Amino acid sequence: MPEWPDLFVLRERLDQALTGQAAVGAEVYNPIVLRAVLPLPQWIAGRRLAGLTQRGKFLTFHWDDASLMVVNPMLTGVFALTQPGAKRTKDTAFAITFEGGIQLRYRDEKQMGKVYLLRGEEPAAAVPGFAGLGPEADPSSFDEADFIRRGRKRQYEVRNLLMDQEFLAGIGNAYADEILFEARLHPKRKLSSLADAEWAALAAAVRTVMALGVKAVAEGMPPGLGAKVRSHMQVRGRENTPCPRCGSRIVLRSLGYLETNFCPTCQPAPPGQLY
Ligand SMILES: [Zn+2]
Repeated sequence: MPEWPDLFVLRERLDQALTGQAAVGAEVYNPIVLRAVLPLPQWIAGRRLAGLTQRGKFLTFHWDDASLMVVNPMLTGVFALTQPGAKRTKDTAFAITFEGGIQLRYRDEKQMGKVYLLRGEEPAAAVPGFAGLGPEADPSSFDEADFIRRGRKRQYEVRNLLMDQEFLAGIGNAYADEILFEARLHPKRKLSSLADAEWAALAAAVRTVMALGVKAVAEGMPPGLGAKVRSHMQVRGRENTPCPRCGSRIVLRSLGYLETNFCPTCQPAPPGQLY
């Protein structure tokens, strides 16, 4: 669930709240998310947070001894900042307390996220999915011409292109739907069928939707984090409501094991496609 805009804002907030502080303790409630040689409390004791970086849907905590904690929140992982004594929700997997009296909690209702504790190893070697990541879906550095040039060499459907982390890092189900709505493209359009103007619209939509996402998440995220900001989305999660552009009913369709929301009028099906 967390996608590029979510992690961008999260990284910024965690950096402001925690960088420079030493970890004074940790508690593990559900170790299933942890990929580590040592238990977290032992691993983290006395380490000071030097900073955080984002790469696609991965967030990396850099500690002062060059060790790393790399987090891939997958579908449902969220971070929250709280007082150490605050009531804990039952999806909390672990908590790290910092010297300033703030506790960082990682919650994950599906426990599918993965947290790698690395000591000196490069994440590209130690973390599955990290090495092959494509350029960031960062609206401030997004290169539309490069996106189009590389995209034209791909063979599959347009939604799969957006979801391909090796093509562009950081977009998942929610923002893929939003980008396709913005570009007025049906999720199953084949890349080979896109006209020049459609490629241009798609590339522009990536930048626009990512920039709007960052703004909306930054405005909507509470100080204690822990929320998923989705209220700005126009089609994702909006099935059976009127399309904000044309008033048609937004539909929900399955694509294999994934689901997509789109407007059947603004995003017409390709020839031969039933919906
Ligand atoms: Zn519409």
